[in-house]
Amino acid sequence: MRVLVLSDIHSNASALDAVLEKAGSFDEVWQLGDVVGYGPDPDAVVVRLRGVGAAGVRGNHDAAALGDLATSDFNSYAREAVEWTARTMDRASREWLAALPETAARDDIGLRHASYRDPVWEYITSSSIAGDSLAIVEAEGLAVGLFGHTHLPAVFADLDGRVVATSPSDGTRVALDGHRALLNPGSVGQPRDGDPRASFMLLDTERREATWRRVRYDIAAVQARFRRAGLPERLATRLDHGH
Ligand code: ZN
Repeated sequence: MRVLVLSDIHSNASALDAVLEKAGSFDEVWQLGDVVGYGPDPDAVVVRLRGVGAAGVRGNHDAAALGDLATSDFNSYAREAVEWTARTMDRASREWLAALPETAARDDIGLRHASYRDPVWEYITSSSIAGDSLAIVEAEGLAVGLFGHTHLPAVFADLDGRVVATSPSDGTRVALDGHRALLNPGSVGQPRDGDPRASFMLLDTERREATWRRVRYDIAAVQARFRRAGLPERLATRLDHGH
């Protein structure tokens, strides 16, 4: 099965459309949370994800937009955007987001937004933090743990107890050959690794292989919608730089 793995779409329909077009054929879509927040297109991204039958989990921005998570730990731009999202989203989007669980698994592959210790908040940004999540992946009988939240494409592989981190770029292919691993597809709607192109991952579950891809999209078009919505200017301009 060929699975399109998406994370941190963040209400950016232009980026999501470019990814869906570039991905080619796929059997399923799995999304790792933060469908909404930051960007101007909450309803449009939910409509597209429903259209492709996406399965997945909720992120901290999704939970906050639903009123299920306090925004006191958000920075002021994120909070302003979440409050705008909560006011703007239609009922169908709200119901679809509310039905997303915090944790999910498909066969021996786990889906989480943040980490395996804390599915909503903890950032997996180092090999030592990844090691704690890899131990939980093992305890849950999983071989691969998908995660998002950092907006950085990443692999943390458990090589006989040593956690090795790599940063995949466009075209990087990783064989999942018996080593337990955590995989981050990067962010569709707000990349933070210095590359402004939308990031996504294709997972071949039979060949046990993951491939990272990047795609350009019309950043100016989504920035115009940020301004029309009255969202913080800084959230629009950061898309030019990919951080
Ligand atoms: Zn996010």
